[in-house]
Amino acid sequence: MLFSVLNPNRQRLWRFHGGVHLPDEKALSNAAASVRAPLPAQLVVPLQQHIGAPADVVVKVGERVLKGQMLAKPQGYVSASVHAPSSGVVSAIELRPIPHPSGLRAPCVVIDTDGADAWGELPEPMPDFQQRDPAALRERIRQSGIVGMGGASFPSSVKLNPGPDQPIETLVINGAECEPYITCDDLLMRERAADIVDGIGVMLRIVGAKRCLIGIEDNKPKAIADMREAVVAARGRLGEAADRLRVVEIPTLYPSGGEKQLIRILTGKEVPSHGIPAQIGVVCQNVGTACAVADAVLRGRPLIERYVTVTGRAVAEPRNYRVCIGTPAADLVAASGGYVGELEKLVVGGPMMGFRIDDDALPITKAANCILALTPDESPDPGEPQPCIRCGRCAEACPANLLPQQLYWHARAKDLDKVQDYNLFDCIECGCCAVVCPSHIPLVQYYRYAKTESWAREREKRASEHARERHAAREARLERLERERKARLRKKKEAVAAKGGAGQDAKQAAIKAARERAAQKRAGEQADAGAKPTEEAPESKAPADKVREAKASVDKAPVRKAPVDEVAVDKTAAEKAPRAPNNTGAVAAQPARSPQARPEVRAESQ
Ligand code: SF4
Ligand code: SF4
Repeated sequence: MLFSVLNPNRQRLWRFHGGVHLPDEKALSNAAASVRAPLPAQLVVPLQQHIGAPADVVVKVGERVLKGQMLAKPQGYVSASVHAPSSGVVSAIELRPIPHPSGLRAPCVVIDTDGADAWGELPEPMPDFQQRDPAALRERIRQSGIVGMGGASFPSSVKLNPGPDQPIETLVINGAECEPYITCDDLLMRERAADIVDGIGVMLRIVGAKRCLIGIEDNKPKAIADMREAVVAARGRLGEAADRLRVVEIPTLYPSGGEKQLIRILTGKEVPSHGIPAQIGVVCQNVGTACAVADAVLRGRPLIERYVTVTGRAVAEPRNYRVCIGTPAADLVAASGGYVGELEKLVVGGPMMGFRIDDDALPITKAANCILALTPDESPDPGEPQPCIRCGRCAEACPANLLPQQLYWHARAKDLDKVQDYNLFDCIECGCCAVVCPSHIPLVQYYRYAKTESWAREREKRASEHARERHAAREARLERLERERKARLRKKKEAVAAKGGAGQDAKQAAIKAARERAAQKRAGEQADAGAKPTEEAPESKAPADKVREAKASVDKAPVRKAPVDEVAVDKTAAEKAPRAPNNTGAVAAQPARSPQARPEVRAESQ
């Protein structure tokens, strides 16, 4: 196994489609060792330096923070925490410009540094990581805010968790650094090779891969040698895991450092369109990420600094720096002796996949690997784009095996369905097509535009689907409530009907019983009458006589005057009587009605 590590020819390599040879310009910055960048007076730390949900801030303005203290915790699964790169006081939490192609402002924690650079409390180191549960190691990586440091900034804990249905056979470590000018990974491999190998050991423990292939372009001979040495030296620390590591020298061809391209070169496998490497049993991580993993697991240190290349012929002394996240790019340029000559363009990243910035006060983020200051000679104006001549060179150069010319036509026509038919989202924006285009068409700009529009359309579609689902759910809820109301009403009616029927039966039974009793009584009386002589019965009076007698008794009866107290009581009772609302909503007084108070009514009823 040792022989195969030392002999790169034992590893078979594959070619990817297309690619271009570019002047690498790495000698500008890779000669000198890296230096620590001066600590700035103010650090601007963006809350979102990763793909996914922004981190949730956990500090307040005015609070003193220590180096390594968490400033913001991850929100959701695809997210990453953010830590203080140095000690100081939080002077603001506000929107600030950040290095992003959109040029938009984003929430940042601003720290006025105190110069003490004092560490806060860190989690326990895990030197026994070979015996640790992979889930605990992943959680340490998540809590340490580690993201892909090759530029993608995808949270590493998520990438290292492919799930049980996607067993990982190969861990690919990306040390290709294929883009011109950038040398920070080269310097990192030369200066921290042992830490990178330890970080790889941790990641092997997490994903359980059978082998690890570390791909480095052959224009970095020193880095290749140092990494091989570190792998051999790691046998004592990593044991059997070190035997699974192999440093592979690959040909220099842009963009061999693209994830899909490097996997193709090292394994011969193709990541499916719209797919991820885990689907073919591969996980790919950058050498910078491996180093950050070692810091987090073996030292408890979160990701608060990175290697950054400051280069281009418009800076006096191009070189590499170890930089606190949040340091303004202008401070690094100043540390490199400032600008010289004419500055044509300032870029974050490389000349192919980087993006232009107009303000050098923007802070360094976890993904920012290079500050490139180009002179007019290094960035000549390509002139006005000419019409496409359908030469097909763009398709020959495309490493993603796309049809850039067709993509261009449909993007230009804003036909977003068609660009997706041509696999727009497999485009890695490497710029190979634009470099070879004789018509100088800014092809990548068209693809970026089409992607942005497609995302916006997708967002709108999702929002309208969400609104439709909410409306349907509301309608269903109202229908259900109406059904329940009707069911309650029906039950109530049935209960009343059942109660009313039972009462009716009882009443009729009582009437029947009363009739029977009356009939029995009459029969008894008639039987008595039949037994006694009729002359003993009292003489019955004619009805007219009865009326006359009753009238006389009423006339003779003394008229009783109601006492004053009774009248007062009656009046009070009338006032206290319930009031019924009139049709204006006011309450109308209702006098109490008693037969004594209204004798004429009583007489009529009689
Ligand atoms: S390289 Fe340029 S000119 Fe040639 S086919 Fe492609 S887009 Fe057209
Ligand atoms: S930018 Fe996109 S279309 Fe052009 S060569 Fe690169 S991957 Fe192909």
